[in-house]
Amino acid sequence: MTGFWHRCIGLLSLTLFTAVLWAVFGAVNALLFFSTMLLWSVIHHIRHMVKLEQWLQHSDHTSASIPEGSGNWDDVFAYLARYVRTHSHSQQQLSLALERMQRATSAMPDGIVILDETNRIEWCNPIAEHHLGIKQDLDAGQQIIHLVRQIPFVEYLAARKYSKPLILKQAHYHQLILMLQLVPYGYKQKLLISRDITRFERLETMRRDFIANVSHELRTPLTVIGGFLETMSDENNNDSEINKRALALMTEQAIRMQNLVEDLLTLSRLENDQNIIEEKEIDVADMLRDLQHEAESLSGGRHQIKLDIATESQLLGSESELRSAFSNLVSNAIRYTPEGGDISIHWEKQGERGIFYVQDSGIGIEPEHIPRLTERFYRVDNSRSRETGGTGLGLAIVKHISSRHQARFKITSKIGKGSRFRIQFPAKRVISRD
Ligand code: ADP
Repeated sequence: MTGFWHRCIGLLSLTLFTAVLWAVFGAVNALLFFSTMLLWSVIHHIRHMVKLEQWLQHSDHTSASIPEGSGNWDDVFAYLARYVRTHSHSQQQLSLALERMQRATSAMPDGIVILDETNRIEWCNPIAEHHLGIKQDLDAGQQIIHLVRQIPFVEYLAARKYSKPLILKQAHYHQLILMLQLVPYGYKQKLLISRDITRFERLETMRRDFIANVSHELRTPLTVIGGFLETMSDENNNDSEINKRALALMTEQAIRMQNLVEDLLTLSRLENDQNIIEEKEIDVADMLRDLQHEAESLSGGRHQIKLDIATESQLLGSESELRSAFSNLVSNAIRYTPEGGDISIHWEKQGERGIFYVQDSGIGIEPEHIPRLTERFYRVDNSRSRETGGTGLGLAIVKHISSRHQARFKITSKIGKGSRFRIQFPAKRVISRD
């Protein structure tokens, strides 16, 4: 039976008993008895309610501090004690889990900041405090952009494209270089992960400087050697066959080394982020007509070279860089297409985007090599690349130039059938002239 019916039966018994009293001792005595009982009941409830109120207001809310009760209130307080016990147990479990989580994240080598849906700081670990110059105690509830004010970070946060990390230089007064990555989770919350890559970036700069310096230092002696070799080849017409062959070989190798040094210097320039890209309107159709003539003289009539210009649209970017990228792809097509093959150079629009591609009917590339072709010095066939005067750096240069123009570089190929090297420029770089 439920508590409600218990109490109804109690009230009913009291009413019945009063009715009996009424019949035996008269109305006055019965009503006196009834009101005394009601008054006693009200006092009983008020007394227990005051105990409950005091417990709610002042007590530490442990089950041991719950007041003692009598009658129905005994049950109520017993239920309350049971509820407080289970509640405090789960609260203990929760705080233990939270403490474990905080200890684990504090021990992590990366900085972690939890941001709410409006990008206010909810929590951060000590490494994040060090990386970003924030303080968990003081800055919780503050907008992260009020504390990390660098423009690239503000733009990264606003752009909501968090698939790629952001490299933030001089992130704080320590002059750190940080890699920041935002990871959305839960209900519009974000995790900001920071990693100190200062050492890695310094090594990378050292590597870049080293290659640039070595290439630069090699350039002058090589030019001198090349110059003398040329003069000697011109003058020593009546030299022995062996000497002539040696001279020809030395000249060829000196040219190869010069090309290599030039390509390494080009790559160093492209890798240098301080080297700001020139924004010029380029007449692509005109540039490609020039390239077609150069390709024809490079091919020496061994291939059929077609030009297909489907749009007069122009491109916004660096003329020298784009010429170098396009010309690298065209010269590769000639070098890797056997005699009699077809090569076509295309410029067209797809929606608002600009597409440049070179199609050849050459030897093709096996699929497993394709993802690695843009690595420096990666070659499918070393001897063939050298034979045809390759440096192994051409596609690495093309990839760098494409990404400096926010373009996508894609290679598709079928072995024995030919290859297509395609650069897709974003709409913001295409100036419509159609
Ligand atoms: P390389 O100077 O060796 O040509 P690249 O970086 O230009 O260096 O090209 C890398 C490799 O990609 C080449 O060694 C070659 O194996 C392959 N490759 C490039 N273009 C073509 C092509 N049009 N057809 C077949 N293979 C190609």
